[in-house]
Amino acid sequence: MKTITFVSGRLTPKALSVGLIAFIFLVCVTLVSAISWQLRQSADERLANARIAVQNIVRASEQQAQDTLRQAESILSNLAERVENDKLDAEQRVRLSRVMASNVKATEGIQGLFIYDKNGDWVVNSFSSESIVKNNSDRSYFIYHKNHPDSAIHIGQVILSRTTGDMIIPVSRRTQYPDGSFSGVVLATLPVAYFQHFFDRLDVDKQGVILLALNNGDLLARRPMIDALMTTNIAKGELFSRYLINSDDGTASLTSVVDGIERVYAYSRIRGLPIIAAAGLSLDSVFATWWTYVYQASIIVVLIILVLTSLGFLLYRQIQRLLVAEKELHLAHRELENISKTDSLTELPNRRCFDATLAQEWSRACRTGHCVAIILIDIDWFKQYNDHYGHILGDECLRQVAQFVGKSTNRPADLAARYGGEEFVILLPETELEGAVKIAEDLRSAIETAKIEHRGSTAGIVTISAGVASNHQRGVTVPIDLLERADCFLYAAKKLGRNRVEHQSQEVFET
Ligand code: GH3
Ligand code: MG
Ligand code: MG
Repeated sequence: MKTITFVSGRLTPKALSVGLIAFIFLVCVTLVSAISWQLRQSADERLANARIAVQNIVRASEQQAQDTLRQAESILSNLAERVENDKLDAEQRVRLSRVMASNVKATEGIQGLFIYDKNGDWVVNSFSSESIVKNNSDRSYFIYHKNHPDSAIHIGQVILSRTTGDMIIPVSRRTQYPDGSFSGVVLATLPVAYFQHFFDRLDVDKQGVILLALNNGDLLARRPMIDALMTTNIAKGELFSRYLINSDDGTASLTSVVDGIERVYAYSRIRGLPIIAAAGLSLDSVFATWWTYVYQASIIVVLIILVLTSLGFLLYRQIQRLLVAEKELHLAHRELENISKTDSLTELPNRRCFDATLAQEWSRACRTGHCVAIILIDIDWFKQYNDHYGHILGDECLRQVAQFVGKSTNRPADLAARYGGEEFVILLPETELEGAVKIAEDLRSAIETAKIEHRGSTAGIVTISAGVASNHQRGVTVPIDLLERADCFLYAAKKLGRNRVEHQSQEVFET
């Protein structure tokens, strides 16, 4: 019978389960990798955009500071030239005060202009043409110019104006006598508020920062404004200690020493001036929408993974059920195969099984040249047994004889089968005729010795007759010849008185 191949051109359920798990795992890993890569790209893009934005803010702040300071420098140069070359009598001072006032009016970002003599006393200012005596010799810019003979402008630390009370950035220049000795200072005051207002118009987030600072780290202006602006020095911050010492401009991600906020900064040294402009956007605001995107993407990925794994689990369970069903089917199939090969009364292999095995063994014997023998067995006077004891006991007797027949074979390749009715057959591959005759004789003798009562028989007990044939006998060329020859010897055994084994009766061939 043809056996069913459970793995024919398709995956086994086990391989299918492993494949399914691997597939789902791969899909999940690919999905997570793809989304992570995309998020990474988007984060880099946001950071790059933020860098461009802060660089633009720095450029605008730098430009504004440069314009204002250059204007102050030009006005101060003018004033110094007048102070150094004109005699400042009372009339001249009034006129100069008016000129200075109109300069202040015309120049955005300059709150006041002042001229000091060598003692630090006010000589002229842009606020009033009346001569008011005030002394600023204690101011650091005054002390600076007194001690430094150069005529470059000096930008000082933020101070409180003694005139207006506002926070101001003092921009000053030394004046000197023709012999080069110190004759005083000209000063322009730049209100911090002016820079603050400008910064307020620039586009940075709530936690963003824009600042101007002196080269030494002293803050000049900052958005958002801090109370301690005048006393804050950021020279120890990473911006100064790590970045500005290496390059005059650039971008960097760092944490502020002032408020501890992490930002992406752009910074630049203002050319020709001892000032640094910097602007920073907080990483929180740069990545605010990105984080929303991360949360949304994560939820979607988790949902997809959940759906995939649930589907995978369902499929896996179905495959497991299929596996169980397949096993059961396989067992049922084997059972069915056994049933189809077994005789239900005696539980010996049936005629169908015998025929198939004989065909196999016959071709093997043809290939190898080995001998194959068969024993055909028939119970003597069995019709009488049925008649005497009835069919039910007849069946029981058949079962008893079948047990003897079954036990008579020794080798795994031997096959004892019920041939039909009360006839049995034993197939003995690789067995010479003599050996087969001996087995038949032993069987006959065993049944005789068992002394199973049989009142219908002349012997009074159940006996058998057997005919033995082998393929090495003359005239045996096909399997049917073997069966016919054994049947002939069986007939001879019957004829010669039963309860005997025959394998070479001349009489048989003569009749
Ligand atoms: P002999 O072989 O010695 O010449 O005589 P016999 O009486 O055995 O001869 P025959 O072959 O004519 O009779 C066989 C009988 O076996 C006929 C049938 O009633 C009986 N028989 C065949 N199959 C079964 C079976 O399965 N159960 C029972 N109880 N009897 C069966
Ligand atoms: Mg018979
Ligand atoms: Mg018989």
